[in-house]
Amino acid sequence: MLANIRESKAKPIGNFSAKMGESPCWDTSCNSLYWVDIDGKKIFLYNPQKNICKEYLFDNEVECVVPRSKGGVMLTIGRSVVLFDFSTKKLKILGSVEPSKKNNRFNDGKCDPAGRFWAGTIHRKELPKAGSLYCIDTDYSIRKMIEGVTVSNGLTWSKDKKTFYFIDSPTYSVVAYEYNVETGNIRNKRKVIEINPVLGIPDGMTIDSEGMLWIAMFGGGKVSRWDPAKGKSLGFIEIPGAMQVTSCCFGGSDMKDLYITTASAGLTNTQLQNQPYAGLLFKARIGIAGLPLWQFTG
Ligand code: CA
Repeated sequence: MLANIRESKAKPIGNFSAKMGESPCWDTSCNSLYWVDIDGKKIFLYNPQKNICKEYLFDNEVECVVPRSKGGVMLTIGRSVVLFDFSTKKLKILGSVEPSKKNNRFNDGKCDPAGRFWAGTIHRKELPKAGSLYCIDTDYSIRKMIEGVTVSNGLTWSKDKKTFYFIDSPTYSVVAYEYNVETGNIRNKRKVIEINPVLGIPDGMTIDSEGMLWIAMFGGGKVSRWDPAKGKSLGFIEIPGAMQVTSCCFGGSDMKDLYITTASAGLTNTQLQNQPYAGLLFKARIGIAGLPLWQFTG
């Protein structure tokens, strides 16, 4: 158990400047971190052991990236789900959603314990309830899982594979559903965490081996740890010099490195002066290991 994480600070690492850093995910098969810069239309690859840093630039916004067990990564680009091969740099569209909703795009995404890929949509101007959360199955069929979402963001599953946690940012809450790993179906929505808006807007989310949720607080300059069974905050990691904290994931050989993405988009020149690290990648050493992320198995 962490004695007290309130004093912990994350440090910026590398020089990976992003306008809208998002969707960090650790690939245990190659000990590398992937994340995206949505506005910068790129994905990053970082292997800290080998000190490999790569950027892959695209023609369009890339909203999220997840590892794929058969090689390469899955991305969302606009309203499409895409397979990307690092070696050939080829893109293959596997499916699309919301053909008539031209102002919608995908946002955060992650894989479930059965290797399905889940990703949600938002309206570019965040029109209330205009988005949905989708599940892309391993045969590439796409199901709508939740309707009426405004800003589809953090998502994660419990270690026992029985609970799905989800954040629609403007609700300032985390909701939980009973999750069926065999079918992927979710049911019985309930609110498990309510977040005071002074802490920031809840954005990306991950889970540790004790079942506690780590939530990036956009505008709050921190990542906070929560107990979903009690709805209680357990402390936070401060992100110095970057208030727009977008998401986080565990990585490293012992899964105790918390990687954190941030954004510089939308800040005024004055705000940027006060937030010199906005858009950088951060890392904090944590006393608790995170749960490894599931990979897409399709
Ligand atoms: Ca996000």
